[in-house]
Amino acid sequence: MSKGTKVPGYMQGKGSRNPRGIIGDREIRYKCSLQNTILDVLRGRPGWQEVPGQNNIQPNVNQANPKQAGSGSTTQGTTSGYKGSVRNPQGPGTQSAVPTRLQGDGDWDFYWCDREWLAQNYDTMFLYEHQKILHFRNHYELTRKNLMVKNLKRLKKQTERELGKAEGQSFEFFPTTYELPSEYHIFVEEFKKNPGIIWIMKPAARAQGRGIFLFRRLKDITDWKKGEYQPLSDPNREVPETYVVQRYIENPYLIGGRKFDVRVYVLVVSYNPLKVWLYRSGFARFSNTRFSLDSIEDTYVHLTNVAIQKNAPDYDPDKGCKWSTQQLRKYLSAKHGVEAVKKAFKGIDNIIIKSLQSVQKIIINDKHCFEMYGYDVLFDSDLKPWLIEINASPSLTASGKEDYDLKFGLLNDLLNVLDLENRLTGKEKRVGGWDLLWEDGPILADDGNMECAPNGTTASIPNSFLGCHNERKRQLRELYTAAQSIKKS
Ligand code: ADP
Repeated sequence: MSKGTKVPGYMQGKGSRNPRGIIGDREIRYKCSLQNTILDVLRGRPGWQEVPGQNNIQPNVNQANPKQAGSGSTTQGTTSGYKGSVRNPQGPGTQSAVPTRLQGDGDWDFYWCDREWLAQNYDTMFLYEHQKILHFRNHYELTRKNLMVKNLKRLKKQTERELGKAEGQSFEFFPTTYELPSEYHIFVEEFKKNPGIIWIMKPAARAQGRGIFLFRRLKDITDWKKGEYQPLSDPNREVPETYVVQRYIENPYLIGGRKFDVRVYVLVVSYNPLKVWLYRSGFARFSNTRFSLDSIEDTYVHLTNVAIQKNAPDYDPDKGCKWSTQQLRKYLSAKHGVEAVKKAFKGIDNIIIKSLQSVQKIIINDKHCFEMYGYDVLFDSDLKPWLIEINASPSLTASGKEDYDLKFGLLNDLLNVLDLENRLTGKEKRVGGWDLLWEDGPILADDGNMECAPNGTTASIPNSFLGCHNERKRQLRELYTAAQSIKKS
């Protein structure tokens, strides 16, 4: 494959327009299990071709070497590939000496699959060198609420042991949390030490605010306990749904009297070494109703999920309940000064890196896999950021034109970072709206961004520009021109 053929036409001058994206000398073939913005992005990408059918790829079975598709430990759920829709013609556990090519395998280069599909197929799947697929096999280590906290607590303890208590303080960004029912008794002890504070109960594996409630008194969870948590001696006991009980942040930062949280997009292209990109744009999701601690049963006041807020009686779909992260950063900078906001946003970088490090040794690393996380971060009244949760399938359905533009750019730039077309040099620190935050260590910025470097100094500032200006199209034009001339020379 000649290097020259890898530069797709749409990045070349009009005279040499080549309509095809190139892997070798052919178009890039993709599959997509979603019907929203990501599909629009993929369909709009010059030279990319859709492989028809959704979620219907037959795995390429390689039982002789089930780790072919990954590297590292596969202690988590290695047999789940035999469940559900996996079709191994020789039956579970049988051996085949070479990868068995089944219908549909290898007919794609890029697959935006859903988590369920990956869970069912990954362990028996053979991936070719060039194939890229969304999700790491055990992404849930970070995205299930109980596991996220378990992993964070473990790394915090290890850090304290190895580097001292002071270092451990850099982990104080997640509210005190216990898993129920397994940690019920420890929770009760903690509860009694802090009378009067508010706690929030959340089902560990659900999303969009479902099943969440707040409480102040232990007896408020008696009903829940009866339903969900029965003593082991009960012969009719079913496995209770796992919940987390978490200290409620009672002093959220308010704008216009309303609570909000911030959606931050993070792209991990490798866990080993850890390589992390942070997207400049995102949004703040506001609750529709003024914040008050008087009505803790009112989800419209306390939960900022769009799925909840859009059902509020006075919700206005035109106005929505979102601000762009740029708008938020501007507002906070005007109010508190640029330095205070820089410090607050640096706290978000810390959350991202520490949380990813907490699972770095656990996630089954695979060069074929990538993950785009949606972090939910809440500022308290001191502008301290708190990690609320991490999503592996952040919503890509747009709630309006602005939201569509954000998500379209985000996803297009994600494909630009992955660079299946091989247009980049691989040394980039910025691709469109994505900035390289970490590659086996922190990345420092080498070009100034005055919004984020108000003193005019660019020396030693982190390459992190959340909420800063995102003139992605101009940056891409310049980037590709530069990359092309580097490659030529
Ligand atoms: P889900 O996965 O169901 O969205 P989250 O953990 O994201 O669950 O919680 C939903 C919403 O509840 C958050 O967006 C936030 O507004 C609010 N929330 C969750 N945990 C806390 C907390 N500890 N303190 C304050 N608000 C919280």
